[in-house]
Amino acid sequence: MNFVKLRVAGFKTFVDATEAPIEPGLTGIVGPNGCGKSNLVEALRWVMGESSFKSLRASGMEDVIFAGGGSRPARNHAEVVLTLDNADRLAPEPFNGADEIEVSRRIARGLGSTYRVNGREVRARDVQLLFADASSGPRSPSLVGQGRVGEIINARPEQRRRILEEAAGIAGLHARRREAEQR
Ligand code: ATP
Ligand code: MG
Repeated sequence: MNFVKLRVAGFKTFVDATEAPIEPGLTGIVGPNGCGKSNLVEALRWVMGESSFKSLRASGMEDVIFAGGGSRPARNHAEVVLTLDNADRLAPEPFNGADEIEVSRRIARGLGSTYRVNGREVRARDVQLLFADASSGPRSPSLVGQGRVGEIINARPEQRRRILEEAAGIAGLHARRREAEQR
């Protein structure tokens, strides 16, 4: 299931609705400091179910809503919509009925977040599971955040090994091995 496009409205710096196509081969975003590159990646993580506002550089979940600036007043809600390609019909049920899947998350001040898949309201957990089944999600090692490259270069060999094991999806094997050895 590939990402097809990301639509952001009222989220952090994206006060007006902005649509970004996600084409095959896209590996990074460039632009001047403060233009919203990290915010866009955070929007992607947020719609996939990120529940930690700290990891979105916010001091509360409502901080992701446009707070006003440059003569524009603050917004009362934010919405992010991620379109997935499901032409190969790999999505889990009950989301597997169409060639494209639209996952959306909306937050309104004082009302919290609501999630929808193809227009139908679902739980945060359903969205998290949808992405986990596709080996993706807000904590996927394939999303390389700012500072992460330097962190990997400066890491001690033991730490670096842990990062590589996490990326390879074998991090859980150590715990299972210890368990097996104790038997
Ligand atoms: P850099 O190249 O320095 O990493 P960047 O392109 O990643 O920059 P971001 O971190 O995405 O930039 O954007 C930072 C800007 O977003 C700051 O100016 C900050 O004030 C603004 N910002 C963050 N949250 C909000 C919000 N809720 N409302 C309005 N602006 C916001
Ligand atoms: Mg940045």
